[in-house]
Amino acid sequence: MEKRKNPSISCSVAQCSHNLCTENFCTLDQVRIDTHESDPSVKECVDCASFVKRQSCC
Ligand code: SF4
Repeated sequence: MEKRKNPSISCSVAQCSHNLCTENFCTLDQVRIDTHESDPSVKECVDCASFVKRQSCC
């Protein structure tokens, strides 16, 4: 099935299997954003918990 971009979720993580790397957008309807810190203070503390490692080439 062809992936279609979600124009509301811009993302440049080409290593994720949900990424439409030709356009730098996510293809999911929604994503879960999480943190690996107890008290996040900068953007580096925040992660996309919907990330799935891409198995094939972009
Ligand atoms: S699941 Fe997260 S990391 Fe993957 S393309 Fe969507 S927004 Fe980017």
